[in-house]
Amino acid sequence: MTEKKMCMYCAHWYHFSVMTPLYEQGKTYIEYYCERCTPAVKDNLMKLPYWSLYTWGNKGSDNKSST
Ligand SMILES: [Zn+2]
Repeated sequence: MTEKKMCMYCAHWYHFSVMTPLYEQGKTYIEYYCERCTPAVKDNLMKLPYWSLYTWGNKGSDNKSST
């Protein structure tokens, strides 16, 4: 079991408590971005015509119950 998530932007692994989840409508897969990359990813998303399909979660939140 790992509490680390890979940032989809820089491909580095960080503890999930510092990762921001990004949910895409219609998909169950959740992408995670590290603190450093989240601002850049948000910026890029806003330029996409379909950015409204994406929803940012709260940093460190995980829909799986874990301890
Ligand atoms: Zn990153």
